[in-house]
Amino acid sequence: MKTSIATVSLSGDLKDKLRAIAKAGFAGVEIFENDFLAFDESPREVGRMVRDFGLEISLFQPFRDFEGMPEPLRARTFDRAERKFDLMQELGTDLVLVCSNVSPAAVGGIDRAAADFRELGERAAKRHLRVGYEALAWGRHISDHRDAWEIVRRADHPNVGLILDSFHTLSRKIEINSIRSIPKEKIFIVQLADAPLIDMDLLYWSRHFRNMPGEGDLPVTDFTRAVAATGYDGYLSLEIFNDQFRGGNANAIAVDGYRSLIYLGDQVKRAEPDIRLPVPMMPPRVDVKGVAFVEFSASDEDAGELEALLVSIGFKKAAQHRTKQVVVYRQGAINLVVNTEREGFASASYLVHGTSAYAFGLLVDDAAATVERARALGAEPFEQPVGPGELLVPAIHGVGGGLIYFLDEKSELSRIWEIEFDPVRDEGSVVPAGLSAIDHIAQTVKYEEMLTWLLFYTSLLEAHKTPMVDIIDPAGIVRSQVVENDAGTLRLTLNGAENRNTLAGRFITETFGSGVQHLAFTTEDIFATAQALRKNGFNALPISPNYYDDVEARFGLDAELVERLKSENILYDRDDGGEYFQLYSPTFGEGFFFEIVERRGYGGYGAANAIFRIAALRKHLRPDGLPKSWSSSR
Ligand code: MG
Ligand code: MG
Repeated sequence: MKTSIATVSLSGDLKDKLRAIAKAGFAGVEIFENDFLAFDESPREVGRMVRDFGLEISLFQPFRDFEGMPEPLRARTFDRAERKFDLMQELGTDLVLVCSNVSPAAVGGIDRAAADFRELGERAAKRHLRVGYEALAWGRHISDHRDAWEIVRRADHPNVGLILDSFHTLSRKIEINSIRSIPKEKIFIVQLADAPLIDMDLLYWSRHFRNMPGEGDLPVTDFTRAVAATGYDGYLSLEIFNDQFRGGNANAIAVDGYRSLIYLGDQVKRAEPDIRLPVPMMPPRVDVKGVAFVEFSASDEDAGELEALLVSIGFKKAAQHRTKQVVVYRQGAINLVVNTEREGFASASYLVHGTSAYAFGLLVDDAAATVERARALGAEPFEQPVGPGELLVPAIHGVGGGLIYFLDEKSELSRIWEIEFDPVRDEGSVVPAGLSAIDHIAQTVKYEEMLTWLLFYTSLLEAHKTPMVDIIDPAGIVRSQVVENDAGTLRLTLNGAENRNTLAGRFITETFGSGVQHLAFTTEDIFATAQALRKNGFNALPISPNYYDDVEARFGLDAELVERLKSENILYDRDDGGEYFQLYSPTFGEGFFFEIVERRGYGGYGAANAIFRIAALRKHLRPDGLPKSWSSSR
């Protein structure tokens, strides 16, 4: 599979873009004329620079408003084309993109357009150049790749071919199987872009909201399957117009782009096993069976506070690492690891981010294969030296400088708690709270990183993303999106903070980056849990009494239930599947908190309650903006 990306997709000057593109692993680059014009070097120098980065120019674009022009405009467009051809030869590329004419002066007619292309093909052939024709979704006469193909077919010239662009085809819902019958040698290049489903003007949608395949809602995989069915084996080239990407970090966007193409190729290959598509071999997407553990890094002092909080929610100290300052707290199937080592990654993470849930472990079928797939998708594996008798736990770098570990049941990893730890008999008088598993891990990320992490998780793990919802914080909007699997054994919520004054935004500022902001535990009986927590001295986050009047009216709940909810500070929600109950801890450290949930068939995450939870958490902020520590708020 030949990978390429258009310079227009990235920020920076031409050299910055090329460097990022080469570093991410692409083979080709589409040079946008404006990127070239804004750059000070000559076309020959630019061509050399591209080749010095180990790249090939896959395409030069755009050439606009060509076909169907009446004289004298027609003669002028051919003169313009000759000058572009001069430039292309100096750059060292042979393919130009001609997009369908949008000029009011253009005259329609398939045969007239075909004749123009035949003549252009003749002129291009003299210089060993090729011309590709693309139907813009908003073209004046041609806005459908089937019509563009008919023009190319009638032009009947070896140097004239078709350019397919997933956005133009999919945004107009054109039947994609029409692609399967196009001869592969007549498809000169294939451009790919996804986009979120938004009902708006096609041109505006295309120029501002395109994103990487897999990041949006368009069936780009089906489109690519149709392309692959022709036997096409040329470039798959990303052409992404996106305001956020053009303002973002070129290296990060290029890595996302490369990951999106590799992931796309992998999906196409699995869906069409008969097609010979040269995609890197990798294990399939990984089925997550559960969250095996969450690990906190902390100083000795902070660890005491954290451990007191854990005990109050019913956790018992269960194991102590044989050689390290690492303790395991356990309840049901939940393992919380508190790491106060002064060396290694956890310690480094503590120094940067303060006390935080810097790592989590996922239980999968094959931990080594998981890291192999992650590596193929461009993720960075993590390893640090292990002591004698310790296991090397496969891991990768995740959100915000955190780590994701993988455990499985087929290897020694299944016995990590016995191999590396000594059991501890907790003699305390903790009342168990009936918490059985981790329901979800909530990560707060910078808004502009959200697409990155959605693609990161969904390309690696057997999971899907839900539509984005807006959560109202008194200080702004937080965008929330979920990555989850059908079994409910993997639930990650991503909250994107656009504004540093929101509670989520403040968390990012205080902790110097994205990370886990809350952990939600499952209970089968929230009222019994609340009772046990009270006995342990836990004070739930107090919720405004006004909330309960509202919830009673909104759902028509009986007064007795509302009274119980109110007395325990439990939040309530309902969807088509059933009911949801939520209970929160106050914040700890730099804004971290715990949540306890009971699901009675409910599938969501209580988004409607977030505003009340945020208001309650805000009351716990000190005047300087930092959260009061848990102990001082008791
Ligand atoms: Mg295009
Ligand atoms: Mg939650």
